Amino acid sequence: MSSVQSSSAQHILQHVFGYDAFRGQQQAIIDTLIEGGDAMVIMPTGGGKSLCYQIPALAREGCGVVISPLIALMQDQVDALRAAGVKAGFLNSSLAPQQAAEIEHQLLNGELELLYIAPERLIQPRCLNLLQRARLSLFAIDEAHCVSQWGHDFRADYLQLSLLHQQFPQVPRVALTATADERTRQEIAQRLDLQAAQHFISGFDRPNIQYRIQLKDKPRQQLLQFLREEQSGHAGVVYCLSRNKVEKTAQWLCDEGFNALPYHAGLPAELRQHNQQRFLREDGIIMVATIAFGMGIDKPDVRFVAHLDLPKSVEAYYQETGRAGRDGEPATALLLYGLEDVVKLGQMAATSEGSEQFKRLERQRLDAMLGLCEITSCRRQTLLRYFGETLDQPCGNCDCCLQPPITWDGSEASRKLLSCVYRTGQRFGANHVIDVLRGSTNEKVQQFHHDQLSTYGIGRHFSTNEWRAVVRQLVARGYLQVDADAYGALKLTERCRPLLRGEESIQLRKAPEKSAGLTQRSRTVEIDERDLPLWNALRACRKKLAEENGVPPYVVFHDATLREMVQQRPMTERTLLKLSGVGDSKLERFGADFLEVIRNHEYPAQ
Ligand code: ADP
Ligand code: ZN
Repeated sequence: MSSVQSSSAQHILQHVFGYDAFRGQQQAIIDTLIEGGDAMVIMPTGGGKSLCYQIPALAREGCGVVISPLIALMQDQVDALRAAGVKAGFLNSSLAPQQAAEIEHQLLNGELELLYIAPERLIQPRCLNLLQRARLSLFAIDEAHCVSQWGHDFRADYLQLSLLHQQFPQVPRVALTATADERTRQEIAQRLDLQAAQHFISGFDRPNIQYRIQLKDKPRQQLLQFLREEQSGHAGVVYCLSRNKVEKTAQWLCDEGFNALPYHAGLPAELRQHNQQRFLREDGIIMVATIAFGMGIDKPDVRFVAHLDLPKSVEAYYQETGRAGRDGEPATALLLYGLEDVVKLGQMAATSEGSEQFKRLERQRLDAMLGLCEITSCRRQTLLRYFGETLDQPCGNCDCCLQPPITWDGSEASRKLLSCVYRTGQRFGANHVIDVLRGSTNEKVQQFHHDQLSTYGIGRHFSTNEWRAVVRQLVARGYLQVDADAYGALKLTERCRPLLRGEESIQLRKAPEKSAGLTQRSRTVEIDERDLPLWNALRACRKKLAEENGVPPYVVFHDATLREMVQQRPMTERTLLKLSGVGDSKLERFGADFLEVIRNHEYPAQ
């Protein structure tokens, strides 16, 4: 055990992982751990958290233990490390006793550099005892927000992880997560006994994700156009609120010729597992899912996340969209929403089990989400502000920046609408109020004698859709409330007064023209047409090697590495090794195959 000491972090970065330089705070985190200190790391998805514990585990003596709740992903994580030449293994319930015994044996013999363990297994006395007898380099607690009872991913097993500090006081610990507001951060530090740890908090921004939020017009048409025009052949996730809608949407996409699979908690476990595996291993699969699909989808090349229903909160939206573009390549987050989403989610919150305080919080979260949908300025600035960060300039990579919405003075229209809500007794939903405004003669209007009201027919000059846009924006800005207990009845709030009295005016976003919308192209991973034959040949080569090795294609090489091959056209091992993502082990295992593909394209066989 001597060669390890000489391997500096930089050396490991280059030779094992094939990267030139550390990103962001990686180096500082790695140094802290190598020196034996504890760390708490908050870094956005795709920021490069894994290297923060993998490199110190390799640089220090002993085996690094990674605690992760994501059993389904351990195999792939270990495969990826093995492809890079790292001695890695995992222990979880999917292993046969004999396989587990073999891993334990390797651990005790000092033959493992990284070991992934599920938390429920780790806290068993037998496992703790095993670890006591092994030489350990560090503990990495991944998805550390699972320890927080306030978060949505709470896991009781995580609470017991404070015992690591008590039982292994000498072993440095690092907790990592992508999602943690201040309160959750404090909870993590306290529950994991990490108060004395150094904290490394990176910004939340994901500049490669393009945010787009659009009104539902014909949602299926909108999605179809997006997939056909911008995402052809790409992998992505389509989120829906209900299981039923997941199944229908997946079926419909298949009928339209896409490779789509359903995923929700109501499907048999084996089928869920099977679909997840296909999503990870095959190219270009669209996963249609409820939010049950998500945490820790470690697939780097998810090119889009589309929401067909409004997420419950900005946190949920950010987490779900964050699954796109972990590899840093351009990706798109598309959300389609409508007023009916707001009513539906409001009702779900109102009828949920929680306390009054909990319901109020849910309501506030939903309002913030709706606010994000209805703003006319940069989405990213608003998103980041929500997480306590500031972005000085508009981002230039969201729909509001790319296609600034047209606004109009909606004061008069808003007053008409608010008065009509008031005159109809604050007991009716948007549809009826709009019918009255537009002077409908339908039965309900007559039944309640609403054709006698002073506001009857004063809004004929706007279409129903235009009025719905006004309602949505007034709800989003807190002038109107949707009463979820009373079937979505609209109610006035205190905020209305100055507007109704004429002391305040309001700018509204113009409802988009029909079917105008998804026109601008996202900056997706474009390969020059001239280079397509080589690109496709490299992808085919990757696919073949992945299948031979029983691993997902990205374990062989990421898209970014293939793209560099296309651009640089390396002809020798030496030049291939210079590309990002090519380390010693991958060069040895896969280099010759890729070089041959490249050479054949330079001098095609006649
Ligand atoms: P996280 O766990 O924070 O979501 P990962 O550890 O999966 O992020 O890293 C995201 C991607 O960035 C991976 O493809 C990884 O290989 C790549 N990456 C990480 N650090 C570097 C670096 N220093 N240079 C180049 N690529 C990196
Ligand atoms: Zn922007």
